Amino acid sequence: MPDVFADLVGQDDAVDTLRRAAASAAAVLRAAHLPAPSATADPDDDLAALAEADEGAAAGGTATAVDPGAGMTHAWIFTGPPGSGRSVAARAFAAALQCVHGTGCGVCPGCHTTLAGTHADVRLVAPEGLSIGVGEMRALVLRAASTPSGGRWQVVIIEDADRLTEAAGNALLKAVEEPPPRTVFLLCAPSTHPEDVSVTIRSRCRVVPLRQPSAVAVADVLVRRDGIAPDVAQWAAAAAQGHVGRARRLARDPEARQRRDAVLAVPRRLTGVGTALDAASALIEAAEAEAAASVAESDAAERAALQTALGAGGTGRGAAGATRGSAGQLKDLEKRQKSRATRAQRDALDRALVDLAGFYRDALTSALRAPVAPVHTDTATLAEAGGQKWAPEGALRRLEAVLECRAAIEANVKPRIAVEAMMLSLWRG
Ligand SMILES: [Zn+2]
Repeated sequence: MPDVFADLVGQDDAVDTLRRAAASAAAVLRAAHLPAPSATADPDDDLAALAEADEGAAAGGTATAVDPGAGMTHAWIFTGPPGSGRSVAARAFAAALQCVHGTGCGVCPGCHTTLAGTHADVRLVAPEGLSIGVGEMRALVLRAASTPSGGRWQVVIIEDADRLTEAAGNALLKAVEEPPPRTVFLLCAPSTHPEDVSVTIRSRCRVVPLRQPSAVAVADVLVRRDGIAPDVAQWAAAAAQGHVGRARRLARDPEARQRRDAVLAVPRRLTGVGTALDAASALIEAAEAEAAASVAESDAAERAALQTALGAGGTGRGAAGATRGSAGQLKDLEKRQKSRATRAQRDALDRALVDLAGFYRDALTSALRAPVAPVHTDTATLAEAGGQKWAPEGALRRLEAVLECRAAIEANVKPRIAVEAMMLSLWRG
């Protein structure tokens, strides 16, 4: 029977960790003679039981000290690229914690209400518009400190922990540093890079990294969950190189397919310095356009929402102070939107580079006559021709040029400079 972890595509390690933690959490509750509503248990007992459960799990695992993969803890970070299923993982784990069987059976009221978003002890923060501000976070932390009404855990899921304002991050840090005995924080972020999650919060959390799932696993979920035709699902899963959301977009969105086609046309257009620089410009501009389209709608909606909020009742007492404050809030919003646009551009460019790397990877495996399926079935013939012309060494140099470009952009090299350098390397070979 599919349990709450069934939709976590190709994440066996993470699922193992979460199952062990859920079992350990259930043991803590049993040790405290629960579930029972409005428990009178001493908080220190719970913490002691938690430590004991950790030790017990560690003793059953590796022989060295404490096994960090076992047991339960109060704060978790789920990391992985967008679309890898980090919020799916957080929700599944929350359900397992609220499961009356302590396993995440998927059918009991605890599992069911958590997955449906109606469990009284599970709070989800998913900033639709503005980032998560300090007021919201303080209120959340306060509510999260109350005794769980269902007698199990208070669970707080923060879907975009990378969008906490600094003040909100500090409010969260206080709660994570001195956690209420029955409160569990589940954070989701692209990575544990300090730009995404502050170092101090990171140091208090256990990290669950989500891997890139296999193409077979992705195709399977596209068919099963999204009703996509099997042949389209297989093509999209392979072309997306295991990225669930990307595969779904490719299967459904003609514009995403066009952008990919344009990227995969790059290798045969590189005939000289001029065309290489042109190709670099085209790639950068396509990423900018894609990013602008992806954030335009939410930017406008956020601005309108903030203006409505600020415009309400502007003549009463303290209106002058409110106006001063509102200029600051608008400025804040613009700053956040700008950083989100930059991030969206980088994401779009990175997707293009991943597609391009797939092409040269196909050329390399073809030159080596490796018995593996191509990433891009629709350009396989072209990649094969490239592989013959360049030999394995030439194909590998080109693949490395693309990967170096990705690494350079990650390390904050200006995208245009990194992409121009890559295109020239790809042309020279
Ligand atoms: Zn259950």
